Amino acid sequence: MEKSRSASYIAKSGGACSRRNKGVHGVPTHCWCGERIATFVSKTNKNPFRKFYRCEMAMQRKGEDHLFKWVDEALAEEISLVEARQRTIEEDLEDMRKTEKSEEDVALQKNGCLAVITWLCCNMALL
Ligand SMILES: [Zn+2]
Repeated sequence: MEKSRSASYIAKSGGACSRRNKGVHGVPTHCWCGERIATFVSKTNKNPFRKFYRCEMAMQRKGEDHLFKWVDEALAEEISLVEARQRTIEEDLEDMRKTEKSEEDVALQKNGCLAVITWLCCNMALL
């Protein structure tokens, strides 16, 4: 009985751990616990005055496993995300320009045909 209880506890905490930073790329807005993320300043000797993201709940209940992310690392990720997004937009724009151009060509061809027909009609009338 005791054995199965401890086993389920391990499975639970493992699940929470894998959930912690999964899917959080760039600047986080919410912790997995549902709390909004705030910015705090580190006071440790290892990272003095370094800013990090954490939810209020984690600051009240120390020892609990909540989302943690350095602000500079999150911003670096955010920049690469924005760059990737910009690249996609540029590609889309390029595609749109190409389609627009080909539509223009079609329009020009139509106008060309019309001009020939008009010219023919005029000449026929003259004859
Ligand atoms: Zn939290």
